[in-house]
Amino acid sequence: MRSAILYGAHDFRIDELPTPEIREDECLVKVKACGVCHSELHQWDKRIKDLDYPRHIGHEVSGEVLKVGKNVKDFKPGDRVAVWADGKGYAEELAAKAERLCLIAPEIPYELALSEPIMCTTNGVMKANVQLNDTVALVGTGFMGLILMQEIKLRGVKQLIAIDVRQEMLDLAGKLGADVVINPLKEDPVKAVRKLTGDKGVDIGFEVGGVQATFELAPELIRMEGKLVIFGYHPGPRQIKDLGYWNWMAFDIINAHFRDMNTILRGARIGMALLNDGKINMEPLITHRYKLEEIETAFSAAKEKPKGFVKSVIMME
Ligand SMILES: [Zn+2]
Repeated sequence: MRSAILYGAHDFRIDELPTPEIREDECLVKVKACGVCHSELHQWDKRIKDLDYPRHIGHEVSGEVLKVGKNVKDFKPGDRVAVWADGKGYAEELAAKAERLCLIAPEIPYELALSEPIMCTTNGVMKANVQLNDTVALVGTGFMGLILMQEIKLRGVKQLIAIDVRQEMLDLAGKLGADVVINPLKEDPVKAVRKLTGDKGVDIGFEVGGVQATFELAPELIRMEGKLVIFGYHPGPRQIKDLGYWNWMAFDIINAHFRDMNTILRGARIGMALLNDGKINMEPLITHRYKLEEIETAFSAAKEKPKGFVKSVIMME
């Protein structure tokens, strides 16, 4: 079977590998789609010195069960599944523990059923404990922000404010349910949020962008004793501009990043159930589809974000 392996910076190669062996508690999955994740870009764009290359990356997998191990009871060949994978997702076949699989409803196309990002957003909303009638600001409405936003809306918030410098992302956020959109290139977001919240600030500020600028802006939007949710992925050092201010404002600081496998799998199951029930709309978010041999182009698109880009996915056939 073919697998795209990352040998170094901008150096994916398609290698021929044997079909993976499965253990008793595993399934062999014929991969149909694998999402290109923002969290993979840094190791593709530059060779990171503490990481081993070649690397078998790709963790946002969906596909069809081909074979099950003898202890697997919940899945059978032919099942359509989303997989929370440790890597090795940019390949035609993948061995995965059955507990990491979720069934996909028949009407959901494979490329929309990406359980890892939906797990992150679902767990993020639950860990932030978004309450009825909260006001919420999202700083960064790319792919993850746009899923997060839809799940926050399910909690019955009073007002959801989406903030991003890409106007087309804000337009999409508006279509998917944001009550107010703010583009910091056009207006001062701190002033705008103050005005919207009677000079108080929002109950919850989600930092989603994962860059220094979003990390600095989010706390400036939050009311005293509000929640600062660090949701963005931060693969490098970040400066806290003024910890004294966070302290004075008595913020609850919530790190919405998940490492424990039980937490991860619980979020994946709940999130996939919401997707299967039509409560999360992924259709407008999967904008760029590529073949396995076009994986370099798929990663370039994820980095450069051409017009209309939200997310690229590798399609196996
Ligand atoms: Zn991911």
